[in-house]
Amino acid sequence: MRILTVIGNRPQFIKAAAVSGPLRARHEEVLVHTGQHYDDALSRVFFSELGLARPDRELGVGGGSNTSQLARMLATLEPLLAQERPDAALVYGDTNSTLAGALAAAQAGMPVIHVEAGMRSFDRTMPEERNRVLADHLADLLLCSSGTSAANLAAESVTGRVEVVGDVMVDVALRWQPAARENAEAPARYGLTPGAYLLLTAHRAGNVDDPQRLRTLVHLIETLPAPVLFPLHPRTRARLEDAGLLDALHTRAGVVLTEPLGYAEFTALLCQARAVLTDSGGVQKEAYLAEVPCVTLRTGTEWVETVDAGWNALVDLDASAALGALARTPPDQHPQLYGDGHAAERCVAAIDRL
Ligand code: UDP
Repeated sequence: MRILTVIGNRPQFIKAAAVSGPLRARHEEVLVHTGQHYDDALSRVFFSELGLARPDRELGVGGGSNTSQLARMLATLEPLLAQERPDAALVYGDTNSTLAGALAAAQAGMPVIHVEAGMRSFDRTMPEERNRVLADHLADLLLCSSGTSAANLAAESVTGRVEVVGDVMVDVALRWQPAARENAEAPARYGLTPGAYLLLTAHRAGNVDDPQRLRTLVHLIETLPAPVLFPLHPRTRARLEDAGLLDALHTRAGVVLTEPLGYAEFTALLCQARAVLTDSGGVQKEAYLAEVPCVTLRTGTEWVETVDAGWNALVDLDASAALGALARTPPDQHPQLYGDGHAAERCVAAIDRL
């Protein structure tokens, strides 16, 4: 089959890096990069590091509001699909690129495959939640990371075929984490001692777009025990700058700000951290795999199993709740929640049966 894959942001490059190889062993893939993330630190570095093939098409339609970005993606994808004439479209996760790829393909009468289907935060104010719900209802083949996501889809009576394959980001993480644990250079570069620093990421619209919430986030960071390493997503950097908060954070003793990091370096810093604080979905999951306690800067999560297992605590932006969560002892048990590192092969086997 000729499969057209639509990707556009950092976690999608990582997911595609897991699936693209096994997919290309059996099918032809046309890789389309929408340009949703156009910053080199969020895009190009992942292609080179993770060995993902160069995109066949680069749409360059990043920037702007969610609605205008989606509109430009749809307008660009329609003629592209007509030209490329794939047998199916493959999309990942919950971004504007996911929804645009799914909708454009469905409108063109092509089957849609959605990897990481069925994740739910049950919070429709999140753009990601709207994207994933709509993509799931457009999809013909829904490939799930866990039984929970398959149950979410059953509850919504989606019409496509649902299969639990495990999580494709886990495939990549399990491959990279053993070396990452031994990488002494990464913490040393920032003057950090393994096991004695916190790693923090934050970029969700709900945390950084509203200046009041952003100030609360900065207060939380200033309350945390030092040192805290904070690789700044470009969105977060821009919002901090706009709110006049960047300089104070920059000069704050014990807070180390960096550019967004490449996957190998970030994974090394995650595996060796005392704990991770994040509003990222992917990072919650990777912290769990690395057996590093996670404090999630949100009121809910799609990765509910990590909370149920006692490795993740939801604190929103409440500084004292974050300190309480950091004081907890990690559980003795660490069940396998999202598969065995072979999810990509199961995705391709399911696609074979499409
Ligand atoms: N990541 C990275 N460098 C960084 C921060 C994150 O390589 O500086 C990786 C991280 O390991 C994870 C992914 O990016 O695999 C998560 O992406 P992001 O937080 O942007 O997206 P989300 O998971 O929230 O959709």
